[in-house]
Amino acid sequence: MTKPYEPLRIEGLDIEPTVCARCGFCTFVCPAYLDTLWDSQSPRGKLYQLRDLIKKKQPIPPDFAARIFNCTLCGACQEICQTNIPLLRFWQLTRQEIGELDEWPEIVNYIDGALKETQNIMEMDQTDRTLWTDMVDDLVEDRLGIEAEVAYFAGCNISFKGTLAHMGENTIKVMNAAGVDFTILGEEEQCCGNPYFVAGGFEKAKELARHNIIKLKELGVKTVIFNCPGCHRAFAHEYPHLIGKESTEGLEFLPFSEFVLRLLNEGKIKFTKNYPHVVAWHDPCELGRHQDIYNPAREVLNAIPGIEVRELKHNRNKARCCGGGGLLKGTDPLMSVRISGRRIEEAEKTGAEFLASECPSCTMSLNDGIEHKESKMKFKDLSQIVVEALGL
Ligand code: SF4
Ligand code: SF4
Repeated sequence: MTKPYEPLRIEGLDIEPTVCARCGFCTFVCPAYLDTLWDSQSPRGKLYQLRDLIKKKQPIPPDFAARIFNCTLCGACQEICQTNIPLLRFWQLTRQEIGELDEWPEIVNYIDGALKETQNIMEMDQTDRTLWTDMVDDLVEDRLGIEAEVAYFAGCNISFKGTLAHMGENTIKVMNAAGVDFTILGEEEQCCGNPYFVAGGFEKAKELARHNIIKLKELGVKTVIFNCPGCHRAFAHEYPHLIGKESTEGLEFLPFSEFVLRLLNEGKIKFTKNYPHVVAWHDPCELGRHQDIYNPAREVLNAIPGIEVRELKHNRNKARCCGGGGLLKGTDPLMSVRISGRRIEEAEKTGAEFLASECPSCTMSLNDGIEHKESKMKFKDLSQIVVEALGL
């Protein structure tokens, strides 16, 4: 049963789908279009359909809602758009509208329920938040909830998915090697709210955002380190809009690569070992196009003696998505893995020994792509490379 039509609420954004020039530039950069080759799945096609719905004063029908969620929110369309439509926000706000019509996909409703119940996307007990620290127990046992200027924020994926725990472990090892006085929130850490930002459930993320900021400030934290670009973007870009600019004043938020680069520049760590490997770099969308952060990881890699860094054909602001963004892994796992596979094919063409990145979601998707393609390509997270090169 659909509700009566209400126009898209695009508060603070002076945009309408009518400003699309229908040039189609966005079509051939869109991973969802490239997977289906349906114009109705392309950014241009979706804008056209939205314009039609608005004109006819009709609500968003379920099949169109599904197409809006068949999108990785990679931002490639926004990057290339000839009329500068802020498409990323536009897709998020369309998802918000879909949520208000009670048409969110099942997986989004599941995540919503899990976050309300357990404050994490896995529906696990918050007391299990520190399971990821098992292998670095000795380095974190005195760090839980202590006052310190630096905090490590693990995020739900690293906290609860055993296959991603190494990212947190490696960050702790680097902090320890550099003599950084740090704290972790442990069971007081709650989801950053990114799934809500991605699904357009902005209001629902407010409590999580407030809780995380209050807890970090209570411990006197000034700098927060993230392996997850989604968590980083939530704190750095969404929280100030959502709960006020003053909420994040006095706090800086650093992705792992930027943090390591700072440690290198301050002489707190130094790469001395030869690391004779050829690495291809994949830019995570949530760090690259979404936040314009491309250089720190490359600078870190290039500081390692013996390493050779190769670029994929589509790199930096033209990088293709890993396939895992925008909740696509949950809404259409088959489309997601096909997109991942295409990124792996591109990585293979570089002739690199392994593909690297810095993102738990990219780690999962690209490893799935390797399996899907039965590729010989290996994947390493930047934290693994740093720890290996430092000999930790
Ligand atoms: S954000 Fe990415 S997947 Fe979504 S419409 Fe734009 S280009 Fe396509
Ligand atoms: S690039 Fe922008 S203006 Fe051109 S078709 Fe896509 S959304 Fe419309």
